[in-house]
Amino acid sequence: MLNMITEKDLKVLITERELQDKIAELGKKLNEYYKKEEVYVVCVLKGSVMFTVDLVKHLKMPVHLNFIRLSSYGSGFTSTGKVNAVDISLPDLNGKNVLIIEDIIDTGLTAKFLIDFMNLNFKTKTLNFCSLLDKKETRKTDIQPDYSCFDIGNQFVVGYGLDYDGFYRNLPYIGYVET
Ligand code: 5GP
Repeated sequence: MLNMITEKDLKVLITERELQDKIAELGKKLNEYYKKEEVYVVCVLKGSVMFTVDLVKHLKMPVHLNFIRLSSYGSGFTSTGKVNAVDISLPDLNGKNVLIIEDIIDTGLTAKFLIDFMNLNFKTKTLNFCSLLDKKETRKTDIQPDYSCFDIGNQFVVGYGLDYDGFYRNLPYIGYVET
């Protein structure tokens, strides 16, 4: 069990420096894409919180910051395969540039759920999906992020917002344990 081990048992997959450099690069790309148009950011809690707060600091346009909560993982290493909307209250996004920010795309079910939800409820001006990490090998949908920072293999990662059983979100790097 991961919660029986300490932080020193974690191996570093992506360092704090690597994360911050890639996020700054992504910020630049988004500034070029949106120009000065306002953007409604939708941060998917809780895993995307670190990524979102670091990314939005690089954005130069007016940013309207929103948070929603979904869950698909229980307290283990694998997705339940079912997405639950825990809190998805949002402002009127009709005609807006909407940027969804996720921590990681694994099966892609969460991303698909969100994109379907947006398309069903709003006619946005633009709808883009960005993810810090992309586990391409485990995808069960045809969803591809519009922007992603790092491709990773099929391993369970923690840190920088990502948890195991609620812990490790505070780490400034992405780590993993060999299971
Ligand atoms: P998906 O719906 O794409 O299968 O999974 C998305 C969600 O599963 C992510 O937002 C994240 O909360 C969780 N998840 C997927 N892979 C990992 C992982 O390796 N570590 C952690 N901590 N959470 C993960």
